[in-house]
Amino acid sequence: APAPAADPAPLREAVHGEVIVPADPGYDRARRVYNALHDRRPAVVVRAADAGDVIAAVAFARDRGLPLAVRGGAHSVAGWGTCDDGVVIDLERMRGVRVDPVRRTARAEGGCTWADLNHATHAFGLATTGGVVSSTGIGGLTLGGGLGHLARRSGLTCDNLVSADVVTADATLLTCDAEHHPDLLWALRGGGGNFGVVTSFEYRLHRVPDILGGPAFYPLDTEVPRRYRELIAGSPPELNALLLFALGPPLPFLPERWHGRPLIGVLTCFSGPPEEDERVRAGLSSLGTVLGQHIGRMPYPVINTLFDELLPPGLCHYWKGAFNRELNDGTIETHVTFGQSIPSLESTTVIFPIDGACHRTTPEESAFAHRDAAYSTAFGASFRDPADTEANREWTRAYDRALRPHTMGAGYTNFMDADDQHRAPANYGTGFGRLRAVKRRYDPGNLFRLNHNIAP
Ligand code: FAD
Repeated sequence: APAPAADPAPLREAVHGEVIVPADPGYDRARRVYNALHDRRPAVVVRAADAGDVIAAVAFARDRGLPLAVRGGAHSVAGWGTCDDGVVIDLERMRGVRVDPVRRTARAEGGCTWADLNHATHAFGLATTGGVVSSTGIGGLTLGGGLGHLARRSGLTCDNLVSADVVTADATLLTCDAEHHPDLLWALRGGGGNFGVVTSFEYRLHRVPDILGGPAFYPLDTEVPRRYRELIAGSPPELNALLLFALGPPLPFLPERWHGRPLIGVLTCFSGPPEEDERVRAGLSSLGTVLGQHIGRMPYPVINTLFDELLPPGLCHYWKGAFNRELNDGTIETHVTFGQSIPSLESTTVIFPIDGACHRTTPEESAFAHRDAAYSTAFGASFRDPADTEANREWTRAYDRALRPHTMGAGYTNFMDADDQHRAPANYGTGFGRLRAVKRRYDPGNLFRLNHNIAP
């Protein structure tokens, strides 16, 4: 039975969605998050139907002094979407999107995934920068910054956030935009879930009907990344290409002898005109010996589903992140070294270019401070058996130690684990002091602390 402090009766009266406690049949489904390493038992999960439910759940947790976890797409690698013995606000039911094709904006509820938002905007030939796995939530991704295929041409996701509805720690709803609570909007652009529950996000959209894209695989050597960095530096912002270190996937376009072997991959998304496709293809061919490739024109949403099958919910993940001012030789050599011992088919080092339009936003305009970084890397282990956790953690930590001297010493919060909490000041960067001031204004009691926390 739930502890008296968490007696859910008042919540059941106030909430239009579902209130789920351990005795309920849906509890095991409701407590589950994407990363299976975080097997927690909350006292109550509120599956909110609307902002009113969120207000009721925030007040409930605050009044009882209970831990509070907020969950959008549930993809947090660090496991912030759940907790033991506290309240989880799950936004999964809040998935509506309204597109305004004339103003080129979309308003999306806080529990949308990128599949939801991309589908809704694509109907109008429009899109905004978003995650490369379609099941990832817009919530956590946007609030941490947001890296994706359109970043070089359209900026980070948070650069395209024009307004937000937020339930703050005092259980009231604020709308922030350039005129109203601009300090809060600034903080939501990179400061994570520290400031409240965002019940809806409004984004600027860009015209991106279809793209040329797909994966190509090359031998694991230092030449491919060196040519890759030249290609990116010399290409228009419409060309995005993620550099990957991975085991060869067992897919038909890759000859069988490369399956499961350490390789380099390049996942391209070119959103320029078809007349330039041949030039893009030639650039990709010049990176090295192409062992297999599957590149073609496709609707923009499709490029963000290519990893989906490889990364279903329920795997274990332990990751870290690193920013690079440039892809220097030391960084490349480290990735090639650790590329040789990548622990599983699901584990992929992903290097995102974040130059171009990302460099046009200043730290004064958004809390995502690392505007001098040209690359943001996610690396670590994804695996099936929890028994392999320690070995995979050790491998990732060794990778991190080897990489750190060659990088900026900080990384993207959304790729960090909970054990990186002490690195928050470096990871938030030069905006950290101002983030703390905004935190003191909107959440002085640190109710929203299950995140890469900014202590007030
Ligand atoms: P959740 O676990 O639901 O939430 C994560 C954090 O955000 C929590 O602290 C939560 O409280 C907060 N939060 C979520 N929604 C809200 C909301 N509406 N209001 C207030 N707080 C909220 N990142 C990229 O930038 N680009 C990528 O391409 C990318 N690909 C990824 C692929 C995979 C398979 C995974 C696992 C992660 C990827 N990430 C990527 C990292 C991703 O940005 C983070 O995992 C992010 O936290 C996911 O957001 P979510 O809403 O799904 O997570």
